[in-house]
Amino acid sequence: MTDYIKELYKVLGKGKVKDAKEYLITHSYDGMRRKFLPDVVVFPESTRDVVEIVNIASKHKITITPRGAGTGMTGGALPLNGGILISFSKMNRIIKISVDDTIAIVQPGVVTYDLVKEVEKYGLFYPPDPASYKTSTIGGNVAENAGGPHCFKYGITKNYVLGLEAVLMNGEIVKTGGKTIKNVVGYNLTDLLIGSEGTLAIITEITLKLIPKPKFSGVARLGFRSLGEAVKGVNKIITNGFFPSALEFMDKVSIIEVFKFLGLKVNENISAYLILEFDGDREEVENQLEEIKALFTNEELEEIVYATDPEEKERIWEIRRNISGAVSKPDLIKYNEDIVVPRSRLPEIVDFVYQLGKEYNVKTVLFGHIGDGNIHTNFFVKKEQEIFIEELLEKLFKKVIDLGGALSGEHGIGIAKKRFINYQLSPEIVEIHRQIKKIFDPENLLNPGKIF
Ligand SMILES: Cc1cc2nc3c(=O)[nH]c(=O)nc-3n(C[C@H](O)[C@H](O)[C@H](O)COP(=O)(O)OP(=O)(O)OC[C@H]3O[C@@H](n4cnc5c(N)ncnc54)[C@H](O)[C@@H]3O)c2cc1C
Repeated sequence: MTDYIKELYKVLGKGKVKDAKEYLITHSYDGMRRKFLPDVVVFPESTRDVVEIVNIASKHKITITPRGAGTGMTGGALPLNGGILISFSKMNRIIKISVDDTIAIVQPGVVTYDLVKEVEKYGLFYPPDPASYKTSTIGGNVAENAGGPHCFKYGITKNYVLGLEAVLMNGEIVKTGGKTIKNVVGYNLTDLLIGSEGTLAIITEITLKLIPKPKFSGVARLGFRSLGEAVKGVNKIITNGFFPSALEFMDKVSIIEVFKFLGLKVNENISAYLILEFDGDREEVENQLEEIKALFTNEELEEIVYATDPEEKERIWEIRRNISGAVSKPDLIKYNEDIVVPRSRLPEIVDFVYQLGKEYNVKTVLFGHIGDGNIHTNFFVKKEQEIFIEELLEKLFKKVIDLGGALSGEHGIGIAKKRFINYQLSPEIVEIHRQIKKIFDPENLLNPGKIF
């Protein structure tokens, strides 16, 4: 056993330090499905434990990789150089919910869904809901600045983070922001850490803004006969004054595969779904569900399903949330890009993606947060097709940038997209990133090899 692992055992105790093979293997992957073994996994239970870990790592020049639930899609939680992997699964306490201040203070390992359910008991709502929210953690959501279906109306993770506590690589504990909605003192370091993909500091406590829980909600699933009408339908809905709390999209392949996966009967005439949720007063919601139908003709729509009952709503959302699992196949390698474009360019990018799929003869599946212009673009390739994928992705990202979009709307860069970052960021901006990284982590020990 190496000296630093012995030291970790000594300082933290056996229960919080694991270097047995089964721990290393189960912490060696994330949603990107690459595998890098850490040398040791540690399970801090307090900020003080994190400080001890950082001090030992710095002393021995060992790299550290923070990890939430490992659902990240871009390899952010992969320990590329082995070293220490910090699992936040034991720092999963909701420390405080204040109804008067409408805030929650949580440890990073809290599973997002657990927080959503807990604050509901107080009539409150925490909206950012990545489709992974039943497993992903608030710490991982903050580090990736995660989005989700409800972000269309309510905003993304960063819109709910008021303050952070973090451990820096020199072992100092720092606090950014605070507990108030307004706070303009100094540079906005809270926002700098949000979305920093675990490369600048280790987040140990998060203060979140909450809002009142909407009184009532209803979901409409519109089944379109043509893909084009569904995509054009997005702006039709918005420009006609509808402001749903969620506006999601599924293409035909994702519909067929999820239905199969869940053992449901599929209507093959449907080429795409738009899934909309409305919330507010019961009457207002019911009117909107009814009015949305009038926007489209019977020729355009094959099916409309409404749900206001909690279980029926959940059944519709389960279909949406199961796409990733249902479309993945063990014999095909998945390239999952979460490109985002201005909404007006959606028809163009959707056409372009399918053309690319045809050109390279790869299975193509599109779904996602279309109201935000954020389309999960999945290409499934056989091993022998992998040599084309680089060229295909180059074409995709160039097009996205030409359309005024971004390489990633919510999954981040990690290792999956770092070779493309210069498509979007100028050399000057990348250099500023490097300088910032150096200030926070001069020895490049915190999650190195990610983003740039
Ligand atoms: C089925 C499925 C659906 C998904 N849907 C969505 C979606 O709708 N929207 C969306 O945005 N994403 C989605 N994702 C991606 C993923 O769930 C999110 O990126 C999520 O925020 C990751 O959280 P996690 O706890 O799993 O973090 P991890 O994957 O463990 O880590 C992610 C990053 O956060 C860093 N990190 C974790 N904890 C800390 C900490 N305490 N301090 C500093 N850095 C830390 C890690 O180092 C890593 O870089 C989906 C993934 C899956 C598998």
